[in-house]
Amino acid sequence: MKRTLYLKFLSGYLVFALLGFALVSTVTNHGLRNQVETLEARTLYTECTEIASRYALNYYNGSMELADLHGHLETFSHYMNTRIEVIDISGRIIIDSANNAAPDSDTVIDGFDISDFGSKYYMVSRFYNTFSENHLTVFAPITPNYRVRGYVLIHKPIADIYAYSYDLLNVVYLTLLFIFLLAFVILFLFSLLIYRPIRKITSVADAYIDGDFSQKINIHTEDELGHLAAAFDYMANELNTLEDDQRKFVSNVSHDFRSPLTSIKGYIEAILDGTIPYEMQDKYLNIILFETERLNKLTSSLLELNKFGSHGKTILYIKSFDINYIIRMTALTFEGICSEKHISIELILSGQNLYVTADMAKIQQVIYNLTDNAIKFSHPDSSITIETTEKNGKVFVSVKDSGIGIPGDSLKKIWERFYKTDVSRGKDKRGTGLGLAIVKEIIQAHDENINVISTEGVGTEFIFTLSLTKE
Ligand code: ATP
Ligand code: MG
Repeated sequence: MKRTLYLKFLSGYLVFALLGFALVSTVTNHGLRNQVETLEARTLYTECTEIASRYALNYYNGSMELADLHGHLETFSHYMNTRIEVIDISGRIIIDSANNAAPDSDTVIDGFDISDFGSKYYMVSRFYNTFSENHLTVFAPITPNYRVRGYVLIHKPIADIYAYSYDLLNVVYLTLLFIFLLAFVILFLFSLLIYRPIRKITSVADAYIDGDFSQKINIHTEDELGHLAAAFDYMANELNTLEDDQRKFVSNVSHDFRSPLTSIKGYIEAILDGTIPYEMQDKYLNIILFETERLNKLTSSLLELNKFGSHGKTILYIKSFDINYIIRMTALTFEGICSEKHISIELILSGQNLYVTADMAKIQQVIYNLTDNAIKFSHPDSSITIETTEKNGKVFVSVKDSGIGIPGDSLKKIWERFYKTDVSRGKDKRGTGLGLAIVKEIIQAHDENINVISTEGVGTEFIFTLSLTKE
């Protein structure tokens, strides 16, 4: 089995990690730089306007000496780690904090044009080749008597500003690393708690495909996986017993067909080769007839049972009918055999007519099979009672005999196909062991119940329910 699911998750994780880092190093980096840049520009601009409106203006008003202004600017520039210049409107440098030797010099910034700032109060450039590297430059006009006479400029190396953004970026990288480590731990836990159980379930499922139902999954968690594992275990168990049942069924059917066929074949051969003399043939032909009838019965019972699939619903022709009448008619069909065995059938029926809602033909078969058993397993000169009682919208039908009874340990098995108790075998060679299986299927198809009470050597009573027809 390929470990594709695990690989998918692992590669998904790696792609997620790579994309995360790529995103941070591009988008986050760019965004942070912009943020830091505008933030620094805003701070410097505040300082710049402060210098322009307080100090430079005093100089232009004549209340401050150039040397004093220069001194102030030097302090500010040192404190702010910047370079501060005062220039006139044509770009001539009046004071440069970095150059204390020449205040009010003749140096002119070549090509200076204040409109190069556009609508912004700052720009990032080498500032007319003043610097060899990019600087952030902010400006503020000096306006004595509402006339622009010059500008205060503050320059700061852009590398210094970005250095701050790199510090922030490092924090982001660290957080990201932490998130990925956490995701890895989660992936590991996922593999432990989900992936491994799934692998176990799949490998056991493979064993089931190969027909080995002995393997168990053994996951007993209270979650969906535990539920799935339990369902799998249950399914394997069911399939296993189903297979066993099927094997047993086939061997039973084969056995039940083979024994009559073997005896039929044996007798016919013996008749044909003269081993059985002509005058004895009648007896053996009767045995052959008996066995053929048994095969016939076996076939029709199997066909009948086949109609009740293990899960498929049998079609029932439900109608209202008089159960007392059906019982009387069925008892009549057994008259011959009853008088042969000196068995009497006593009917204790509730009312003249008792209407129930069910499939008449199938219920008649139930009564037939139960009465047939009662007669078969009764001693001669005994009595059988068939009784109907009505209670709470239900009709209880009981078929009771005082025959050989059923041993306690066989009571549960009598409903199984082909099951016959050891005591009954001697009494009834013709029986297939399918009669009660059919009875059970019919009653279950009606959503009704059937029960048996029996004591070995004393007698047996079968009771089943039916729905009383509502008026
Ligand atoms: P078939 O019904 O096909 O003729 P059968 O009667 O042997 O065969 P079931 O009707 O399924 O088969 O009954 C199963 C077994 O249950 C019987 O073989 C018998 O051992 C036992 N049994 C059923 N009814 C009675 C009864 N009234 N008294 C004693 N044993 C019974
Ligand atoms: Mg029977």
